[in-house]
Amino acid sequence: MAELAGRAERPNEVVARIDARLVQLDHAQQGLINHVEELTDRRLRELKSIVRMTKVVNPDDLLKRSANSSAQGGPFIEMAGGLDLAGGDDSAFAKQLYRVSQNLKKVADLEESIARMPLSEPLVHYRKTSSYGSRRDPFNGRMAFHSGEDFAAPHGTKVYSPGAGKVTYAGWRGGYGRVIEIDHGNGFKTRYGHLGTMNVKVGQEIAFRDVIGKVGSSGRSSGPHLHYEVWFDGIVRNPSKFIEAGQYVFAKQG
Ligand SMILES: [Zn+2]
Repeated sequence: MAELAGRAERPNEVVARIDARLVQLDHAQQGLINHVEELTDRRLRELKSIVRMTKVVNPDDLLKRSANSSAQGGPFIEMAGGLDLAGGDDSAFAKQLYRVSQNLKKVADLEESIARMPLSEPLVHYRKTSSYGSRRDPFNGRMAFHSGEDFAAPHGTKVYSPGAGKVTYAGWRGGYGRVIEIDHGNGFKTRYGHLGTMNVKVGQEIAFRDVIGKVGSSGRSSGPHLHYEVWFDGIVRNPSKFIEAGQYVFAKQG
């Protein structure tokens, strides 16, 4: 613009310059929204694949559950509602902005749902001594269904909640000995058996990684270990699938 100094710009020159500037801005705006859309789509794909790894629920069903339990909308939806600012409701840009805002909402909902799922490990150090599924009963030698995983660890080892939730049971129950049950919402529950001590009460809200108790050998147990169960929609599931999925969640935060 230095070469313009020294003479007055004519009005049509000013308009042409502003027009050129607006085209530049349009391109910048389009570039920005394309970038946001790309990042949002990638994040959504990652989150959906993590949910699918659990093998029990598909991400769209999980999104429906979270839509039923949390308020709809959010600031981004409100913003995209005022589409007149973006050049009218049916402009390609407005449609793209709306699509991106919908996907951002899905990302936020899935992140919130995943944070409550039992995807981390309840013990830091352990040795898996028995897997979920059919096995020979350690007491009578007969084949039986093992409803969880056994993690051997010394007496007094801290047991962590693998996701946020609410305690629905904490007490003695037959073969389980001292047992805690946590409801994580969206259909997910966990159970911790053979505990030595219990640090929580029924009704208590639990945050991610709170210490809920300590390993013991109470009930029908041959040595100190945690019997860990994961439930979804009233059916007991394979905890290792959840822990595998969790490795993708927690690796990213490192
Ligand atoms: Zn067991």
